[in-house]
Amino acid sequence: MSLSIADPEVISVTSARERQKLDAAIRRVVERNACIGCGFCTSLDPSLELRLDADGFLRPHRTGAAGTVAEDAARTFEQACPGCRVDAVRPPGSRRHPTMGSYFGVWEAWASDEAVRYRGSSGGALTALHGWLLESGRASRIASASVGSEPRRTVPVTITTKEAALAAAGSRYAPVGVLSNRDTWSSEAITAKPCEISAVRAAAGASGRPSDAEHAILLSFFCAGTPSQDATGDLLARLEVPADGPVDELWYRGRGWPGRFTVRTARAEASLSYDESWGDVLGPATHWRCKLCPDGVGESADVVAADLWSVDDRGYPVFTEGPGSSGLIARTQRGLEAVNAAAAAGAIVVRSIRMSELANAQPLQRKRRLSLFGRLLGSRLAGVRGPRYRGFRLWALALAHPRLNLRAARGTRARIRRSTATTGSAP
Ligand SMILES: Cc1cc2nc3c(=O)[nH]c(=O)nc-3n(C[C@H](O)[C@H](O)[C@H](O)COP(=O)(O)OP(=O)(O)OC[C@H]3O[C@@H](n4cnc5c(N)ncnc54)[C@H](O)[C@@H]3O)c2cc1C
Repeated sequence: MSLSIADPEVISVTSARERQKLDAAIRRVVERNACIGCGFCTSLDPSLELRLDADGFLRPHRTGAAGTVAEDAARTFEQACPGCRVDAVRPPGSRRHPTMGSYFGVWEAWASDEAVRYRGSSGGALTALHGWLLESGRASRIASASVGSEPRRTVPVTITTKEAALAAAGSRYAPVGVLSNRDTWSSEAITAKPCEISAVRAAAGASGRPSDAEHAILLSFFCAGTPSQDATGDLLARLEVPADGPVDELWYRGRGWPGRFTVRTARAEASLSYDESWGDVLGPATHWRCKLCPDGVGESADVVAADLWSVDDRGYPVFTEGPGSSGLIARTQRGLEAVNAAAAAGAIVVRSIRMSELANAQPLQRKRRLSLFGRLLGSRLAGVRGPRYRGFRLWALALAHPRLNLRAARGTRARIRRSTATTGSAP
């Protein structure tokens, strides 16, 4: 009997083989602790899902559910998983800043609706863009992340109304895999972390891509890293909320700028400042992959938002409460057209700024990019290979800042060796 390619037996053998190759590729990423839990792999194979591991980060797990693995899944995975590879995007005609990336336009921006501005993380620019995308008919579904039915958790969501956009406003400093939501791949807009957006952009060029998501408008935000879910538990413990006690509402910031980490229970409301929550607990609990990230500035997105902090005499951001202000970057022609159209429609207020103004307001992102070559080198010297990064010209930044990179290389190597000696694995 001869078997044609449409034969179910052939499909299941091919699927099983592809699944083995995909599993091996995923294992290599997880073993290097380079899996950030974005959920891209789950879009290639319906029998994978994300679950929290013992360290409070999301990891892919086999559910045992049936389903066909995508054709060419392993190759697509290696092309687009941000634990394998990230490429800098340089659209023709764009300008390029050495640490802030490529751009067509950069502004200070905020939502013209005061309620949105107040609720947003910084100026509510992304939420205002969501509202405008829905109202103008450019998008009927926007994939992003928001609070879960258990308020301690953060989950992927599909936003279809302005009310839902407002409810999703504000940063969630906890693990969530926007790409694990099947709806993401058929949404007309996606707002997610830079690593997730880079996977969507890279997958658009891959043969086994999960969908036609290359048509979606891609929005992102500056990102210093995803903290462990355990850090949310630590914040609650500081506020004396019992680990298993009911929580009515929990938000990390927003409702002011920068806003406070706040928890509401039936009995009381308690909060910590941004400095206390991000500075003391969340920031130090970010994932190892985030410490080796080449792209905290969302280079693959069409539009990116950031905090446009004021800085003190020493160049440190000042976190005094005030009306929110976002830095907004259009990284593509499409992004430029969208920002101009949203401003013309009155959804956002924009004021053109120089990229150096945004770079000055983001000392952490600047320093991270300048010293990344050293951290990657230190990791290599300690025997742990990081993901492959192309087009970021990290070596040129290292040549311009040799001492900073040398210090970073030594520090990273020492940290990995310490971790391997005490726990048997990389941090
Ligand atoms: C993990 C993390 C790290 C960050 N690091 C930085 C940083 O280094 N520098 C900086 O300037 N700003 C950082 N931010 C904040 C971010 O810059 C602000 O969200 C941005 O200024 C946009 O503000 P906004 O008021 O326009 O956004 P909003 O109007 O508040 O909209 C924010 C949108 O982001 C989505 N979102 C929130 N959390 C997540 C998440 N975990 N994953 C995916 N989508 C999410 C929401 O659904 C919402 O639609 C970080 C945010 C997060 C979640």
